[in-house]
Amino acid sequence: MANFINVILPIPLERTFTYSITEEEAALLQVGMRVAVPFGKSKIYTGIVHGIHQQQPEAYEAKEVHQLLDEYPIVNQIQIKHWEWIASYYMCTLGEVVRSALPGAFLLESETLVLRNRAYEIDESQLLDDEFLVFEALQHQSILKVQEVSAIVERKNVLPILQRLLEKKVIVLKEEVYEQYKPKLVRYVKLGTAYLSDEKLEELLNSLTRAPKQSQVVLSLFQLQGNTQKPIKVSDLEKSSNTSKAVIKSLVDKGILEEYFIKTDRVDYDGGTDNSTTKDLNEYQTLALTDIKASFEKNKVTLLKGVTSSGKTEVYVKLIEECLEKDLQALYLLPEIALTTQLISRLQEYFGEKIAIYHSKYNVQERVEVWQNVLQAKPKAQLVIGARSAMYLPFSKLGLVIVDEEHESSFKQFDPAPRYHARDAAIVLGHLHNANILLGSATPSVESFYNAQTGKYGYAEITRRYGNVLMPEMELVDIKEASRKKRMKGHFSERLFLEMEETLKEGAQIILFQNRRGFAPLMECLTCGHSPQCPNCDVSLTYHQFRNQLRCHYCGHHTALPESCFACGSPDLDTKGFGTEQIEKEVIGLFPEAKVGRMDLDTTRGKHGYEKIITAFEQQDLDILVGTQMLTKGLDFRNVNLVGVMNADSLLNFPDYRAHERTYQLLTQVSGRAGRTKKRGRVIIQTYNPYHQILKQVTTSDYDGMYTEQMYERQQFKYPPLNRIIKVTFKHKNYNILNEAADWFAGALRTNFGGVVLGPEYPPVARIRNQYLKHIIVKVQKVQSLAQTKANVRRIEKSFKAVALYRSVRVIYNVDHI
Ligand code: ADP
Ligand code: ZN
Ligand code: ZN
Repeated sequence: MANFINVILPIPLERTFTYSITEEEAALLQVGMRVAVPFGKSKIYTGIVHGIHQQQPEAYEAKEVHQLLDEYPIVNQIQIKHWEWIASYYMCTLGEVVRSALPGAFLLESETLVLRNRAYEIDESQLLDDEFLVFEALQHQSILKVQEVSAIVERKNVLPILQRLLEKKVIVLKEEVYEQYKPKLVRYVKLGTAYLSDEKLEELLNSLTRAPKQSQVVLSLFQLQGNTQKPIKVSDLEKSSNTSKAVIKSLVDKGILEEYFIKTDRVDYDGGTDNSTTKDLNEYQTLALTDIKASFEKNKVTLLKGVTSSGKTEVYVKLIEECLEKDLQALYLLPEIALTTQLISRLQEYFGEKIAIYHSKYNVQERVEVWQNVLQAKPKAQLVIGARSAMYLPFSKLGLVIVDEEHESSFKQFDPAPRYHARDAAIVLGHLHNANILLGSATPSVESFYNAQTGKYGYAEITRRYGNVLMPEMELVDIKEASRKKRMKGHFSERLFLEMEETLKEGAQIILFQNRRGFAPLMECLTCGHSPQCPNCDVSLTYHQFRNQLRCHYCGHHTALPESCFACGSPDLDTKGFGTEQIEKEVIGLFPEAKVGRMDLDTTRGKHGYEKIITAFEQQDLDILVGTQMLTKGLDFRNVNLVGVMNADSLLNFPDYRAHERTYQLLTQVSGRAGRTKKRGRVIIQTYNPYHQILKQVTTSDYDGMYTEQMYERQQFKYPPLNRIIKVTFKHKNYNILNEAADWFAGALRTNFGGVVLGPEYPPVARIRNQYLKHIIVKVQKVQSLAQTKANVRRIEKSFKAVALYRSVRVIYNVDHI
């Protein structure tokens, strides 16, 4: 009987593909294993077996599988179901989900020519345009042939580009199929088998009396070994016997010692103070825990709203403890940035080596190891802490899902597909496992709070800070007034300045928040009003004083600071607005004694970027920390008594229906960094609009007021959670084609679909990297079927792609979170 498998290939094509397998292969293969299969004329891809059957495909002759890559499934059935949900809900293909879910090393590469070099952090801004195109293509497709590179950069001879990319360590070249992942091997030694008996051993030691160094090595080995069976590393033996590699090697050569290897994990937690008992909860925490458990009893997703520093983490800890005792796995999701050593070491104190961390800044090897540990349900990966991609791990018995800081927008992936929201996808995963699901935040998203209000979710809250520390005192400072009266020192109001002086005098620390990096967002000619624009994007260039450059924050384009206006030649140039760099500089001028640090995208690149700054601030090597919204996420500093918000208005004016909600969340969160211990903290918010409703709500901690008002607006304008939205984005380098294509699509949507269709419209930045952009927003009312709507949109896309002129227009969907 002929045997066939359906394979999911990691490419953006709708279907799975059928391949034929032999009887022997059929006996070995299971769903969830990887196979290398031929595709097209000469490609080889790694795919995941999705089904095994006897149905010969009708339309084509099934090719044979090249190679089986696994002896056991590396993906389980629940994951495949979860992927199917993601693909269907977020309107992408299963292949795209696979590409995003598996560590790159699992997707074995074929007759490869160009691969992304994952061993290096790439500073995108250092790449030229054509280099960037290749780099970007390698984000979507892990492998490119030379002719594909040619097509991407629209040039025949691409070898010089590849040469440059190699030099910049962006890519590596490969010739053939190979397995990228290599476990790190550590060398161990033991006594040679010939010397295991006591007699032989004595003989040996006697014979070594004239070789004191060698004798020392053997004695050290015994010492290290004690009466344990534990393996001894060559490097440890070298250290403890105080000898050289050469001495050990000569013993190995003589057969007195034997060398061997064990596969080891890179991501081991090396002991320490694990399993200290968890903290006793106070009455408020206990009450919240009781409510959470009661809600879990009813199988409900539960929202925990606890003010900043109320001790939510300790409540999670209790739930995790129970989950692990039942021998189930737990998943703890956090925004990337909150994944610092701070939280991890706190949890390691309780759960020691049961913790595995899954992080995009970890390298491929480390990620494969965590994957394997979770797959085998090893105790050392029983609690997984990670950013959004951790929900892709092969859990088999998940008992608890915690999504901390659930309101965070960084749970949403924007590029590439799948454009999923990790909180929502993790809830679906939790349901598939029948796990308990807890969302936590001091400032829940309007969506989650709505679900709690309507009874869909369970609800618990903690309204007091732990240890009865008071919530910080907040004050709005009108800088319009202050500027008019000339009472500003640079961007600092007198109020803020005096408070800073006071705080420093007391030996406490200060956080200053400004949600823009760089020195100034705009450079302007005082003569003609011209401001330099990015040649590739419709956006002004940001002035970075440190590098004396103008830079584009969308594409990385940069030029040296001009000495005179590009347009009229006038030398009278001025900057407008301000970013973190400028604030840092002003602070240094105002408080020359203070040690000042800055935390933003420019200062935190690299694997340990955040950690270094956070640790320096924690250890009080810094007095003042200036930063962007990175500062707001779940950090627990003990000695911060003052938080200054340099300008709240830029947050409010964001063109997004969530802008007000986000402002409330950001300001509340950043304020929450102040006064987390005994002394009451102080927060000063500078603004031109001190009477703005949202700012009032922030200063009075009026979450309910914010929620009610936002819900009213969402209802008026048909936004979530009362409606669903799908944003369709069109992207093309030709302005006319883009416009025509978007109009065609919008027309088809309007004719075929009853809901609200808005647009097409240009986004605020209507051209990025020389690609024009246009959006259509589809609003789907609760009574309509979202699934049906998506199917309709997909059908329209099919006809759209049948129009030759539109085929090259990229169509991108974002569902719910746009
Ligand atoms: P949140 O996550 O709600 O902002 P945390 O969990 O970080 O708050 O708690 C704030 C501080 O209070 C932490 O330093 C934590 O160690 C301490 N804390 C919280 N709960 C307890 C408890 N039950 N016993 C002792 N210390 C606690
Ligand atoms: Zn000018
Ligand atoms: Zn640009």
